[in-house]
Amino acid sequence: MSSSIEHFEQLALSPALLETLQELGYEAPTPIQAATIPPMLEGHDVLGQAQTGTGKTAAFALPILEKLDWNDRQTQALVLTPTRELAIQVAEAFQSYARHLPGFHVLPIYGGQSMVLQLRHLRRGVHVVVGTPGRVMDHLRRETLSLAALRTVVLDEADEMLRMGFIDDVDWILEQTPAEKQVALFSATMPEPIRRVAHRHLRDPREVRIETRTATVATVRQRYCQVGVQHKLDALTRVLEVEDADAILIFVRTKVAATELAERLEARGYPSAALHGDMTQALREKTIDQLRNGGLDILVATDVAARGLDVQRISHVINYDIPYDPEAYIHRIGRTGRAGRAGDAILFVAPRELRMLRTIEKATRQPVERMPLPTQEAITGHRLAQFKQQVGEVLTSQDLEFFQQIVAEIEREQETSPQDIAAALAYLAQRDRPLQFEDTIPKDAERERERDRERASGRPDREGRSARSNDRPVRDYARDSGDFNKIRYRIEVGREHGATPQNIMGAIANEAGIEGRYIGRIEIHDDYSTVDLPDQMPPEIFQHLKRVRVRQQMLNISRLDGAEPERKRSARPRMERPAGDRERSVERKERKRPVRPATDS
Ligand code: AMP
Repeated sequence: MSSSIEHFEQLALSPALLETLQELGYEAPTPIQAATIPPMLEGHDVLGQAQTGTGKTAAFALPILEKLDWNDRQTQALVLTPTRELAIQVAEAFQSYARHLPGFHVLPIYGGQSMVLQLRHLRRGVHVVVGTPGRVMDHLRRETLSLAALRTVVLDEADEMLRMGFIDDVDWILEQTPAEKQVALFSATMPEPIRRVAHRHLRDPREVRIETRTATVATVRQRYCQVGVQHKLDALTRVLEVEDADAILIFVRTKVAATELAERLEARGYPSAALHGDMTQALREKTIDQLRNGGLDILVATDVAARGLDVQRISHVINYDIPYDPEAYIHRIGRTGRAGRAGDAILFVAPRELRMLRTIEKATRQPVERMPLPTQEAITGHRLAQFKQQVGEVLTSQDLEFFQQIVAEIEREQETSPQDIAAALAYLAQRDRPLQFEDTIPKDAERERERDRERASGRPDREGRSARSNDRPVRDYARDSGDFNKIRYRIEVGREHGATPQNIMGAIANEAGIEGRYIGRIEIHDDYSTVDLPDQMPPEIFQHLKRVRVRQQMLNISRLDGAEPERKRSARPRMERPAGDRERSVERKERKRPVRPATDS
């Protein structure tokens, strides 16, 4: 994508929005933002080929916020998303971009959430509605949502809506909107049905896509580590423990993140500095010089600040936050492997970012190897090997006479053996950084679960987030993870009603909060269908699913064995993504010198 826009100030955004972006630490528009914001501000329709992680939410949210009529409390923008999670996420993004726009109201609406609550908000008036197609249709039919004042419609992740069988609903909703409006359609891929929707509903759209020039980065070994957002810091420290590195450049997305991560690494004993666009030129140069001459080993940088950085010592680039596009990735990893040396690039990928990883692989025409997270045992083994090596070095290089006398004195005074004394000294030597590495990741996962429980109970968590209490059963059911049994259910919608596996899957996924991959075989019969779902379905969800409609037909779900689900708290189906399925594995190669934390010396 070629664009001459490099700063947010070049976009016609109001000071309030620019201030917010500055506070959020956004340094520059991402390529999709640079290409989408100007035409959207000018009122053009947009057809954007963009996936999660490219910054597409801000690409449409900022122009929508910019153009809102503040004297009008009617719904002026509608964003359709395939899933409730995305609806919530997009609504939260709107809220954060509108932090200096008092009086702004956005409402996520999705199945499984109380209608009463939604109606109360809708009656009060909301500027932007973000919803899943099913629930938006419900409100339109009941005339509880009016689109009379609508100016902009966004179809987010249109290919996912197609995959989940919502595309006819999207079509229907678009038909209910005023003729004069702006439409922006975003999709990671552009299959024919999406192009048809675009053709029918978009007028002379500006096409926006990230062009991926292919490039080879032959001297850099590329690996990725699949890790959830909440475990990234722990994963990073593990990687720093075992990698044989000289200097390390870590990439994050925002200025705020650069400063924070450098501080958190310092706090864990890894001297680090941040490099970002808010620093003076002099300070930036000083920091880079420190990296160059070995006074500093870890630098946490934003893309803008690291542009053109040329330090031969950089042996590792760690993509802590995934880049917005392959071009940024290629630039980032090009900071290592300088002057013909070998380099290592490690990318942290959350499960939902795997698609971006595949795009990167396509652009570089190289596979990125999967790297297992270094285990507790591996780190302990590594620390032990280092310790033994240090002891060996001291034994061969130092004059130890004075210390031998001390040991002899202790032996006499304490009536103990030299071996026990050596063990005590080894204990003292490692006290600040124990040789036995403690596994923090499961503990973090437990904390996260606790936080989820708080959120589900309606109490705000430490970050002030809260979930609506009426979401609770659905969310709990969807969150637990692990093995589960599937059983067969019957639903009262079939071929003669026009049901397809896609629209059944879409409705169940959204209304019960069950990820598509936990929905098993769907068989369509003439006037009913069967679907395999995890057993132990909470009764609240079961009752809710009875009333869900597909093709105007109430599902009236029942178990084929005739039983009604009972409330049981144990042996729930587990719904989280099993880590690492289908992924290639890679043998970790031999390691040499790790970057040592400060407490090591
Ligand atoms: P999205 O692709 O919309 O899901 O955005 C992915 C992530 O990028 C979100 O966490 C955003 O907060 C972040 N983000 C979006 N635009 C920018 C930007 N210009 N600079 C830094 N971070 C951004």
